[in-house]
Parts: sequence; structure tokens; C-alpha cells
Amino acid sequence: MAEAIRQQTYTIYPVIQPADYPTLKTINFFLIRREDGLVLIDAGVDTDDCMDRLRDTLKQAGAEIGDLDAILLTHHHEDHSGLVPRILEEKDIPVYAHRDAVPRLRLDKEFLEMRLAFFRRLYREMGGGEMGTGRFARLEQTIREAPKYALKAEIVEIGEGDRVFGFEVIETPGHSPDSITFLDAEGRAAFTGDVLIDGSSVNAIIDPAANGSRLPSVSQQRRSLERLARLDADVLYTGHHGSIRNHRELVRDRISRMDKKCEKLISLIGSGISVPAQITEAYYGKLYNTQFPLVMSEIIGHLDYLEEQGKVEKAMEDGVWHYRPA
Ligand SMILES: [Zn+2]
Repeated sequence: MAEAIRQQTYTIYPVIQPADYPTLKTINFFLIRREDGLVLIDAGVDTDDCMDRLRDTLKQAGAEIGDLDAILLTHHHEDHSGLVPRILEEKDIPVYAHRDAVPRLRLDKEFLEMRLAFFRRLYREMGGGEMGTGRFARLEQTIREAPKYALKAEIVEIGEGDRVFGFEVIETPGHSPDSITFLDAEGRAAFTGDVLIDGSSVNAIIDPAANGSRLPSVSQQRRSLERLARLDADVLYTGHHGSIRNHRELVRDRISRMDKKCEKLISLIGSGISVPAQITEAYYGKLYNTQFPLVMSEIIGHLDYLEEQGKVEKAMEDGVWHYRPA
């Protein structure tokens, strides 16, 4: 079990769940004991093992599930909100999350149908052909099963500048539209979810806004990284891997990697590969077949960023976007 960390006004009990994702070794979430409450920042993954680990950590803090007062989510992803339903079965407590997390946690049918239509059109217009079929099937299944898996908790919507259990809320979108950071300015510590991870790159994932428009995930992620670099904090507690004490250096590294990706994309486009799906295949090789949604998202996000920077332009031919250097 991880050691408790004493801050000025609260104690952090990290819950470190081993993970077997290809690039992620742990899933981290944090039990916080404060004078005004016992809260969780994120809620792990939905497995018995993770639930046991949470119970052990609660015991370490002299508490149990029934003593929890609230759950604060850095974002809605299933490895951050996984245990929420199990916890709520035992104790009905509010879940604090960003406004854009709500339809994603509630599996709102209208939102999910909009999102499915968004990806169908996106992959078609980006030249992906039949490559999205597997993902569409999964999204359709999610819509069918929504009544069973939708989160029924009370969700308290929080956003930029709000204060919750002593933490200042800072919006840090890009990895997901609803990503937020919880900053403890006095204690010079922040809980940053998946914006920056030590020893692993973070993908800015393409997703629609509530109105169906495509969010500029890569420029959002760059701005969020720059924001983390300016944060008055000595330590970042992250959703995966170890806590970060050299965040300014890591941010510089991540931004320069994104710049390199941009340069490589411009040179591929300059060589005459104009359709995003083909650019993705040229860039990623066999990952194009095995990780299609993820790698497409990565390339489309960077193309959007390059277009915003005036470095590439696009035109539609026969229903498919073609990019060329501007
Ligand atoms: Zn995530």
C-alpha cells in the first residue's frame, strides 16, 4: 500500500492500481482526508481488485465506504470513474465533474446518437472507408445498453474558478473535453488526471462538443500543457504512473514532440499524400489497422492544429477532405 502524504490542511492516501494497458502501468486515484470531508479524486477502474484496494486504503485512513462524502472526477474516462457505481450502491454521495462529463457519464441517448453520427461522418470524410465499422458497432452497443450502465448519481457540475473541498478547479481540456485539474495553491500541489503523464505520451482525443462541432483537441491539449507549466505547484498527482516534480521540463518535452509530429505531417502532405486516412497509415504503419480510432484521432487533431496555424489547407473532393501545404 502507498504511504500517506501529509499536506498542510489534509492527508492524501494514494490508491495505486496495477494496470495492464500497453503503455500504462498503473491507474492512480486519491483518497483525501480533510477537516470538511473525506473525498475521492477519481475512482479507479471497475474491477473487484480495484474495489478491494480502495477498501484497504480507506482502512489505512481509519474509514470505510460509508464515510465518504463526495467523489471528484478529473474526467469521465472508465479508468477514472470505474468504481463510482459500486461506491454509490453503498453510499449515496454527490459526484463533482465538469459540465461536459455529464452526458458522457449519464450515457445520454441523444448525445450518444449525435456522437455516433459525428464519427460516421468524420471517418467517411477523412477517407477511412470501412475502417470505423468496429467502433460504430461498439458505439451502437453502448446506446442499446445505456439504460443499464448510465450513471444515476447526483452530478454537481463544476468548471473554471469553482472551489470544491478547498481545491480550485482549472479547466485543462484536450485529452478529453471535460478534463479538469484540482489545484491546492497553498499546498503547491495539483491533481491533474491525464493531462501529463510521466513516462507515457498522452493522446489528445477527438470528440464532439455538445453542439456536434469538432473540438480542437490538439490546440486545447497544448494550451492545457502550457497552463500546467505555469501552475504554482511543486508536485502533480497524476492519473497514471508516479507523481511529477519536474512538470515544466516534461511539458517542454511533450510540446516539442507535438512540434516534431507536425513537421513530419507537413512533409508527408508535401510529398503528395493528401487524404487523412492515408496520411495516418503512412505515419503509423500497422497501427492504422489495429488502433484505427486512436491513430486517426491523433492525426486529425494535428491536422486541425496545422490548419489553425495556417500551415495546411483542405478542400473536399467527392466527399473526402484532401490536405495540402498552405
Ligand atoms: Zn483518460
